[in-house]
Amino acid sequence: DRNPDEIPASLVETLRSTLRGTLLRPGDAEYASARRLWNGMIDRRPALVARCESDEDVAAAVRFAGDRRLPLSVRGGGHGVAGHALCDGGLVVDLSRMTGVEVDAGERTARAQGGCTLGHVDRATQPYALAAPLGVVSETGIAGLTLSGGMGWLRRAHGLSCDALLRATVVTADGSVLTVDADHHPDLFWAIRGGGGNFGVVTSFEYRLHPVGPELFLCNVYYPARHAREVLRFCESHLAGTPDDGAAPLGVLGRVPADDALPADLHGEPFVALLALHPGDPAEGEAALRPLREITEPLFDLSGVTTYLAAQSLLDEDYPDGDRYYWKSVSLPGLTDETIDRLVDHAVRAPSPASTVDVWFQGGAMARVPEPGTAFSGRNAPYLIGIEGNWSDAADSERNVAWVRDTFAALRDFSAGGIYLNFPGFLEEGEQLVRESFGANYARLAAVKAAYDPDNLFRLNPNIPPKA
Ligand code: FAD
Repeated sequence: DRNPDEIPASLVETLRSTLRGTLLRPGDAEYASARRLWNGMIDRRPALVARCESDEDVAAAVRFAGDRRLPLSVRGGGHGVAGHALCDGGLVVDLSRMTGVEVDAGERTARAQGGCTLGHVDRATQPYALAAPLGVVSETGIAGLTLSGGMGWLRRAHGLSCDALLRATVVTADGSVLTVDADHHPDLFWAIRGGGGNFGVVTSFEYRLHPVGPELFLCNVYYPARHAREVLRFCESHLAGTPDDGAAPLGVLGRVPADDALPADLHGEPFVALLALHPGDPAEGEAALRPLREITEPLFDLSGVTTYLAAQSLLDEDYPDGDRYYWKSVSLPGLTDETIDRLVDHAVRAPSPASTVDVWFQGGAMARVPEPGTAFSGRNAPYLIGIEGNWSDAADSERNVAWVRDTFAALRDFSAGGIYLNFPGFLEEGEQLVRESFGANYARLAAVKAAYDPDNLFRLNPNIPPKA
């Protein structure tokens, strides 16, 4: 890589004058905020930040970095846990100003620019009682989420975010602006549905929408963690006996936060919670989800009818900007008593009370897409475990990261494959874990990479080196 300090100021000025958006350098007023990410663990100093406002801006910035062999990173919503949205010393293609959404309610589609958060898209589609299947925190970016899969409340009913993708605009390494769908560049269309940011900058995502909301029933019930075996087992048998286009539960193991809205005598109490949003009529949802709320005596039950938009923001306050985060994940082929005990054992030992171990029940629509149908791997595993280290103080980083790594190692004993690349830690394990996580799709991904990014310009991601 070239040292950006060697780039003549005149060339930087040429780029600046080409962009409709702004080019930031250290010392500029907005530079400090441009190098801040959601994860306060990340501290990187790019030489240039191109705050793009059009596809042409993105193409110019990509060409500038490619021609000069500068490190290049891409910022969508800035919520990538690994912090790859920023690079040290190179150029950031920053999409934070590209947040437009166009909805075609008749066709049930929405076209969203690459800097959108989930909230931008949901707020545009909900006036028509439509939704794209996205994630569960409204401030997350659609770009990173969709490119590596995208799991939310609707995954069982409507599949992954990448499954709803109909078309995308991609700026490739040579600066071409491509419209990509099943009929145009089908290999690239396949690769961006799970292959992450390896293939170019996606400046717009067109999603298929589904009738959802505005009102829905949300199950949000907390049981004592000592009942974890019974609760998680119940979920498993309940799902086996219900249509697989219903709600997908998320099991959460943690400790009751010291929140005034919750009974003071329960603060700190280990819990196993079940959260699930029924995708249909609220009355039907209440009936369908009632058994999940009656497994045993709960600590408390916050379930009820809510709006889709409120459900999509329910967890936002648990993930404040600038706190410290380190998350990993493990796919599991089944939940044995031994696995559940291990989940509980690790969850209650988390050094930070804000940390959790999450059980994502999979299946349904996301499992009906054949594994080679998109680049996403891991659809067939019935469970994904998310290990979330969440804390505030830099002095606590070492022991929180150690807790996540220790939990990850303990669960890998039971693992069916790789990790979910949207919950990746810092990918410090290197190429082998990335390769495992793409499973049987890896070789085809490497070939698509060779066709569209032979010099591996886009490498700050779960990287797939090009191989023809
Ligand atoms: P960024 O940091 O901007 O991008 C992450 C990476 O994606 C970049 O480094 C780059 O490699 C690539 N990238 C970003 N934008 C583009 C683009 N336009 N073109 C090409 N490559 C690009 N995941 C789920 O599946 N379900 C959830 O419910 C969920 N909840 C979450 C809640 C929180 C609070 C957070 C922080 C994350 C959550 N995630 C969830 C994980 C989330 O999907 C990833 O963190 C994702 O990377 C966020 O995307 P972003 O655009 O905000 O991130």
